[in-house]
Amino acid sequence: MKNLSVNLSGKTRIFGIVGWPVSHSLSPLMQNAAFTAMQIDAVYVPFPVREIDLRDAVTGLRVLSIQGFNVTIPHKQNIIPCLDRLSKEAQAIGAVNTVAREGDELVGHNSDSSGFLRSLQYDLGFSPRGHRIVVLGAGGAARACVYALCQAGAAEVVIANRNCERAIALSEEFGLICPSTKIHAFPLDNNALKEPCYAADLIVNTTSIGLDKMGSNAAGTFDLLPWGNINSETLLYDVVYSPGSTPLVKRARANGMVAKDGIGMLIAQGEEAFKIWTGHDPGDSMRCAVENVA
Ligand code: NDP
Repeated sequence: MKNLSVNLSGKTRIFGIVGWPVSHSLSPLMQNAAFTAMQIDAVYVPFPVREIDLRDAVTGLRVLSIQGFNVTIPHKQNIIPCLDRLSKEAQAIGAVNTVAREGDELVGHNSDSSGFLRSLQYDLGFSPRGHRIVVLGAGGAARACVYALCQAGAAEVVIANRNCERAIALSEEFGLICPSTKIHAFPLDNNALKEPCYAADLIVNTTSIGLDKMGSNAAGTFDLLPWGNINSETLLYDVVYSPGSTPLVKRARANGMVAKDGIGMLIAQGEEAFKIWTGHDPGDSMRCAVENVA
């Protein structure tokens, strides 16, 4: 039975997460653990919201004085027109995963980007400055990761995507924002990727290859990567996470590489959101909460 020993009062502040679906989300567990650890009178709840209802839902959250909320699939981009302002990062990335109330305004932030960088450092001991990195995918998570890598001083970023036009568009867009990083676009194809993967210090997966729609392991994995050309010193980070690790992480480890899945990014983006809302560092409360259920 779950421990429901929360002390709600008329002063309790309410936070939450907006997405569809949200029932699988670990964010309520992490954020409530942090509120408890920090003795903050607040509670964090899931708000399942369909795409068609997003604008009405944000109006509701606004008038109910919800103090802040996370945004997850499929709303990270569509929420932007519902907000009053965006942080510099959210503006550049074009996606919002954290909304904070500032006075009467709802301000959109993106903590996926800083969470990714923190997890690279914490989980792989990797700092992007001066390094060559291959990013698989060109969707929302790729935008946050490529932005983070460029801001952190990566020398070269190769974006490889099934739909190569999306990779080209992303490389051109971020090329303008981040002129000191060389950004190239490639098709997600093991022949084309031989050279970039051979030269890479880090490979980051942001695609959902190998996962079915419910996020479980599925057959068919990463034969699109030129495994024979990847050095065992090359690190691999999979932003996807799944209990017992992801198919890609297992494959990379079998190749002799050090590889991590995205649970560290999930925790770090939650910690960043908590800091935005409360001004406090939640310490290791979120990591402990996630490790307790793993
Ligand atoms: P998007 O839908 O925006 O992008 C999906 C990407 O995956 C696209 O590049 C798409 O390529 C590619 N893709 C999907 N299926 C295939 C396939 N069969 N073969 C090749 N490429 C494929 O999703 P997001 O970027 O928002 O999320 C991606 C993953 O990252 C999700 O699993 C999500 O849970 C995870 N994530 C994890 C976070 C964390 O905190 N750890 C934070 C954010 C996301 P194409 O353009 O060709 O369709």
